[in-house]
Amino acid sequence: MDLTTASMLEIADAVRQKKVSAKEVASHYMNRIKTLDPKLNSFITVNDKALDEATLIDQKIAKGEEVGIFAGVPFGIKDMFCTKGLKTTAASKILGNFVPPYDATVVARLKKAGIVVMGKLNLDEFAMGSSNETSAFGGVKNPWNLDHVPGGSSGGSAAAQAARLVAGTVGTDTGGSIRQPASFCGIVGVKPTYGRVSRYGIVSYASSLDQAGPMVSTVRDAAASLTVMSGRDERDATTSEKDVPDFNKNLNSNVKGMKIGILKEYMAGGLDPDVQKTVEKSIETLKQAGAEIVEVSVPLTEHAVPIYYLIATSEASSNLARYDGVKYGYRADYGAHGAEDLDAFYSKTRGEGFGKEVKRRIMLGTYCLSSGYYDAYYSKSCQVRGLLKNQFDDAFKKCDVILSPVSTHPAFKAGERISDPLAMYLNDIYTVSTNLAGLPGMSVPFGMSSSKLPIGVQITAGHFEEQKMLNVALALEEASSVKGEKPHVI
Ligand code: GLN
Repeated sequence: MDLTTASMLEIADAVRQKKVSAKEVASHYMNRIKTLDPKLNSFITVNDKALDEATLIDQKIAKGEEVGIFAGVPFGIKDMFCTKGLKTTAASKILGNFVPPYDATVVARLKKAGIVVMGKLNLDEFAMGSSNETSAFGGVKNPWNLDHVPGGSSGGSAAAQAARLVAGTVGTDTGGSIRQPASFCGIVGVKPTYGRVSRYGIVSYASSLDQAGPMVSTVRDAAASLTVMSGRDERDATTSEKDVPDFNKNLNSNVKGMKIGILKEYMAGGLDPDVQKTVEKSIETLKQAGAEIVEVSVPLTEHAVPIYYLIATSEASSNLARYDGVKYGYRADYGAHGAEDLDAFYSKTRGEGFGKEVKRRIMLGTYCLSSGYYDAYYSKSCQVRGLLKNQFDDAFKKCDVILSPVSTHPAFKAGERISDPLAMYLNDIYTVSTNLAGLPGMSVPFGMSSSKLPIGVQITAGHFEEQKMLNVALALEEASSVKGEKPHVI
């Protein structure tokens, strides 16, 4: 078995059967991190206890104790998830030295399943961005071409996974942050239905939109990871009581008779020709496999970007009010040489602790929520959001899943859009509706641009219909002509 390209499930099988020790696997990946990450900057923190933690798994196996489905799988965690005893920064100076006393539920469940945490992965500050360029710890490079961005906000997860510095990662998606970087880096990324996965212990960006999900190399690994992560959590009242199917066991690539919806509004033009070709090829592939293609329409997607940026920034301005320098995180100087009163202290702490994009969003959100504008902006957006969800519900009466692009273009060059926030926000046109409607969506690699950058196809399903979405993704993965392609760093 080639450790660098093996899937999570293959690695765990080999570890359980003692063909390789968890410690050997962890040292293999630790060496890759040490030699390759200086080029990519995908890690914020490397877990210096990873090898010891791997040894504990080997000891359990030696004693015949139960080890989980991911025994000994080297894993990277987006630095939005609290990890007990391991620094959690949200890529912000304001949390630059925060060490949580507990694990996020997702992290606890993955650890129980046997993963070895190799470290914490880079992202846009507080997950606000589409290129990983707003991180206080520097940008991340795309392993397929170092001049290009890996996407964002989960850019560190996507880059580390594509370069195989880990065997699996987890990200968060508020408006596309799992799917877009997955597409830009040629990996599989799943954003589950809102309420499928617990948000407990995840740094909040926009609480009504945030969801966590796997960013991995194969659809099977995605299905297995999603099963582990999902399910009711008493600590997050928005998690669903619904049973969690074994997504991996039920995985089936037979799409015969399935109805694949093509969203009229998403195919209306403005697409890069390579992206267009990739989506068309995926439609043709599913048709050949016996699926029926139907056109559907969700007219309100036209307004999705402005609605998203009104709601997300409003929730962010409220969520980020907690960073005041008093309870935890960065604290500005106070007293003789610093701020002279409490208000000045808050301003100084927040002024120094937050980056430019985060401040922009706090100001936008505070404006939307202020008394004179609340009804016109925040309330109105929430109403349109409700209608958008209804339109999607109607669309899913006519089809099983919707197939679409993830992004208008393959990965763009670093520096190309960062000084134009509007151009950056428009990049999210195909992903934000999914979050607004609370639907599950994913990106699966299916194409390659003429300049050798990966292109993913997006599959969206009805609420709690992740299985259908994963089945279609498996069908595409099996038929994919880009399966063997690897970034040059591998
Ligand atoms: N790019 C979007 C934003 O900047 C989405 C980010 C995310 O999903 N966390 O808000």
